[in-house]
Order: sequence, then C-alpha cells, then structure tokens
Amino acid sequence: MADFSANLLAPIKVCLLTYGCQMNILDSQVLSGNLTRQGFTIVEDESEADAVIFITCSVRDLAERKVLGKAGKLNVKRRRRPEVVLGVTGCMAELKGEELLEGKNVFDFVAGTHKRHLIPEMILRALCRRVAAAEVTAANAEHIERLGKALAPYMEECLASEGSLLAVGKDPMSFGLDELEAMRPRPWQAFVEIMRGCSNFCSYCVVPYARGPEVSRPAESILSELRALAVSGCVEVTLLGQNVNSYGKDLPAGSMSFPELLKEAAKIEGIKWLRFVTSNPQDISDELISLMASEKKICRYLHFPLQSGSNRILKMMNRKYTLEGYLEKVAKLRAAMPDLWLAGDLIVGFPGETLEDFGETLRAVEKIDYANNFLFKYSERPGTAAARLKDDVPLEEKKRRHAELMALQGRLTHEHLKSLVGTIQEVLVEGRSKRNRDVLQGRTTHYANVVFEGDPSLIGKFVQVRMESATPLTLYGSCERLTGEEKLTDEKETSGI
Ligand code: SF4
Repeated sequence: MADFSANLLAPIKVCLLTYGCQMNILDSQVLSGNLTRQGFTIVEDESEADAVIFITCSVRDLAERKVLGKAGKLNVKRRRRPEVVLGVTGCMAELKGEELLEGKNVFDFVAGTHKRHLIPEMILRALCRRVAAAEVTAANAEHIERLGKALAPYMEECLASEGSLLAVGKDPMSFGLDELEAMRPRPWQAFVEIMRGCSNFCSYCVVPYARGPEVSRPAESILSELRALAVSGCVEVTLLGQNVNSYGKDLPAGSMSFPELLKEAAKIEGIKWLRFVTSNPQDISDELISLMASEKKICRYLHFPLQSGSNRILKMMNRKYTLEGYLEKVAKLRAAMPDLWLAGDLIVGFPGETLEDFGETLRAVEKIDYANNFLFKYSERPGTAAARLKDDVPLEEKKRRHAELMALQGRLTHEHLKSLVGTIQEVLVEGRSKRNRDVLQGRTTHYANVVFEGDPSLIGKFVQVRMESATPLTLYGSCERLTGEEKLTDEKETSGI
C-alpha cells in the first residue's frame, strides 16, 4: 500500500496538530504535502477530521503533557465519532514508542521520527479497523458511509493484518525523499532542513535520543530545493539544523562546510533574506562571522543559546564552552556586525543551580544585552544524563527565577525595539496581525515584530516602514513604500490627481 492516491474513492480528512520547534513545523509541512499528494484532504479544524495526527516535542515535560491532555480530550469526543483515528509522530513517539499504545487506548498508531513516510499507510490501516468496529449512529452515519467508500479497496487487507501500529527506530531516512513535497502555507517564506539529529549530548536534552546522530543533507540537494523555492516566489529561507555549525562534518571529504553552503545559497537570485538556526556557541567559526558581516542577504539576527551564565552549571550541562569563551564570540560578532541582534536560550533551576549560579546568569544576560531570549524551567527528561542528578531546585523557586529573568529580558527587548523608533526599516510582510485583522504584521531583518496599516496585497512583499512607537514586544509604524519603489502604488495614483 505504498501509493494509493488513485484508489481514494472519497475524501479522507486529516488534521495535523503541531507542537514544538521549527523542525516540527517543517515536519508537519512535509507531512501535509505527502498526504495531499496521496489523495488525503488536510483540514484545519480537528472536529471535521477523520484522523488527527500529533506532531510532538519531548524537549520539556510540559510539551508532552500538552499533547497527552489534548489527545485525552479528543478521545472523549470519540464517543460521538468512534471511527476517528488519533496518531502520534515526532520526538515523543520515538522516545515513548509502545507505551503510547498501552493503557487508555488513546492513540491508534505511533510513528517515530524516522518513519513519517509510513504515516499515510498507518492512517488507512487504523481507519479500516475503527470503521469496521464503529457503531453507526445518527451522529456518524454520514462519515461512516463516506469512509466506507474511501476505504473499500483496503478494508480486506487491513483487517486481515494483525499487530500494533507501531513504527520507531533509527534507520535514518535518506534526504531528498520528500522535502520537495512540503506544503508551505506562506509561499514566500520557507524552512529548509540542512541536517537532522544531534551528536552533542547536552546532559538535559533528549534530541540525540529522539532524532539520532547528526546527518547532513548533501549540499546539492539543499541548493536545488532553494533554487526551486526561488523560482516559485520564495524570498526568505531559514536553514534548519540542531547545530548548523557542524554541517558537512559527516559528509565525504571535500564537501561544503556551513559557511560555504550559506555563500552558495546567497548567490541564488530571488532569495533575499537568509536566516539559520541553531548556531551552537561551541563551534561558530571566524569564517561564518566574516561571511555574515559581508553578505547582506544574511539577516542581522542570530540565535546563539547560552543556557546558563555559570561555568559550573555549563559543565554539568555538558555544554562545551565557558561564559568567557561565549563572551569572546559575542565580541567578535558585534565587532563584525554592530547592528546584530542576539537571541538566547536559558534554563533556570538546573540540578544544583544555586542563587549564586543564577546571579551569574542574570549578570550575563544584562551584559550580553540580548534582544530576545527563550527561557525555560528545567524539567527532568528520562534517559538523559541530567536525569541521574537530583532535581533539587523546588518548582516554586524555578518559577521565581524564571519570572525574574523574564522581567530582565522584557526590559532588554523593549529597549531594543525602542532603539528603532524614528528609523525606516525594511519589513517582510507576513500577514494580517493576529490581534487586529485590519492591520498588517511583518518582521525586520532583526526579527522585530512590526504592525502597521497597509493593503493586504502587500503580504509576502518587502516594504519600508517608518517606526513610530514601541510596546514591550511590538513596533508600530507607517508604511512608506514598497522596497525598490519610490512610493506605494496607490500613493502614485493619487499623487497624479
Ligand atoms: S546541541 Fe545540545 S541542546 Fe541542542 S539539540 Fe543537541 S544535545 Fe540538544
């Protein structure tokens, strides 16, 4: 049952619920593309769906609890539609595996991080079982009739096959199988995966266990995807990897390094902005810093996770740099690019973190003057090295440290935004503002969030915006013109009257 697009005789509606990082967003876009190509219909509203797939994250305990909570609620709703399938993929599926199929019977299938290509078939197998077993009522009769028609070619084979719908394991999927099928909701903006997995084993992190060791995607495959994206109108690309600085180290000798790849990417006409995440401070190179400084397509925003300002805690985290080494890299970056905005990641309440350690983190944040920070309370992740340490900072104290750091970062972020007031910035218009659909929202090269009035026809374009005021998280401005044009089209028209 590898490709059944020709055989789907009625729509099967699938809703994808995505949790976690950009990698998961891209996984979800690739899965959408793959399912659509095979004849499934993607729906936004979970209540319309015949199958709901969770694309999960295990980096924090909270992320896992959110998935289980949501799945539990959908399971209760299945009293009205018992034929609906619930599936789970991503990091949590890989790490928990069979455990997710046991107990309360919530999930029908589990597909690990290297098995997403099996999901279309798993949906069909699970749906056949559920439809065959479901009681037909007034609430689901119409759905059962439609699904019965869609599943008819598979029913016999699926019901004859036994066993749990579980696929996990670390046989790395080769790159190039399905990236080009990604269904991106904004055609002018794309995440592009350049590597998978991680070999760093920071002591608190599950990623090396959930996604396997680092595997780089061949440069030609990445560049041909970028060329295709440019032809289809994409102007902003974010290259994704757990540590992009390691890109190419596992490829044959003579393969491109990350700076070489980035340089080639910047030559592609049409792509105007390049971003990348994540750059691990342990191995950012002088070559990358000097390329960033000279190549104007590379945005002036760098995610550069510190995790803690205490060398003692950094060592326990198995981070392979000291605060002093990190500050040296920041100094080099700032000397090369005085207008660079830095973002960080910080964990508070790591096992053994004292008030003194936390104080060092506060001082480091103030000194580095981050534009933004992703702040987390430590939560023990089973199977990691840190899980063998006593999680000895009480939750209330973790919350207090988190709030103190949030307040500090909030002030720094506001200062960064205020520094742009009065300037004109180039902004890529991302869409209508979520809070007020009558105005537009976009991002600057610094990834600053900007809201301004403008015609929806500007969505996906670069415009010049005069920044007029700044709240703690958002800049407000007025649109001056499209980039490269003297004035906005409607202004040109009225100026002639
Ligand atoms: S670098 Fe460390 S924190 Fe980042 S994914 Fe790898 S192990 Fe996890």
